[in-house]
Amino acid sequence: LVSRENHPDRTTITVGGVPIGPDTVTLIAGPCAVETPQQTLEAAEMARSAGATLLRGGAYKPRTSPYAFQGLGEAGLRILADVREATGLPIVTEVVDAHDVPLVAEYADMLQVGTRNAQNFALLQAVGAAGRPVLLKRGMNATIEEWLMAAEYIAQRGNLDIVLCERGIRTFETATRNTLDVSAVPVAQRLSHLPVIVDPSHSGGRRDLVLPLSRAAIAAGADGVIVDVHPHPEQALCDGPQALVDGDLRELARVMRQFPPLL
Ligand code: PEP
Repeated sequence: LVSRENHPDRTTITVGGVPIGPDTVTLIAGPCAVETPQQTLEAAEMARSAGATLLRGGAYKPRTSPYAFQGLGEAGLRILADVREATGLPIVTEVVDAHDVPLVAEYADMLQVGTRNAQNFALLQAVGAAGRPVLLKRGMNATIEEWLMAAEYIAQRGNLDIVLCERGIRTFETATRNTLDVSAVPVAQRLSHLPVIVDPSHSGGRRDLVLPLSRAAIAAGADGVIVDVHPHPEQALCDGPQALVDGDLRELARVMRQFPPLL
């Protein structure tokens, strides 16, 4: 279903009226985690004024340590819905458990499946049946074939509104959190008709790498980027070192506007 073999034209999907696909380069930005109404609104205003058209933000956070901030849960979803109301930006937010899918789908414009759940087949099937577009991260240990098969699980439930997101894979390198696999962008686009975007924030784990990795992604033909922003990264409860501040985001948006999408 997701293969390009039977579907030669690349697909554009829309999220709350915002297109993601071959004719555009979409900027998705927002906080890694929803922490407070004020922080989320400020991050969303930063995103919107820089030119982002979708707001990201996690209410359910899959953290490596059980002692780390786990997200606000439904209270975080309510904050996101209020911020959507205030800014007009449709929301992309992660769901980590199949049981939470109906609740998260009530609030979200797009459901995100994160790298740690990228082969959680029960979750993939549940989001496939939820009636919302899905942002599917690549598992950090998954081959491109396994990533596409994960997308197939979603598609099999009748949902072809899927965006693939390369977010770095685990390699021997320790200078970055993960290694952004730029080649995954054209490879996945040749194998699948689905849009492919890149997350330079979670792959590098470092603010100073977000712009160069975004440039690389867009030059390779990515259909968009999804980045973390925070009004006060030093106070962030999650992944502050990779969050962009206002000026960085404007610079990223400026660079993105210079790249016409590769047709
Ligand atoms: C995220 O986007 O909030 C996230 C946790 O990303 P990943 O699953 O790629 O680590």
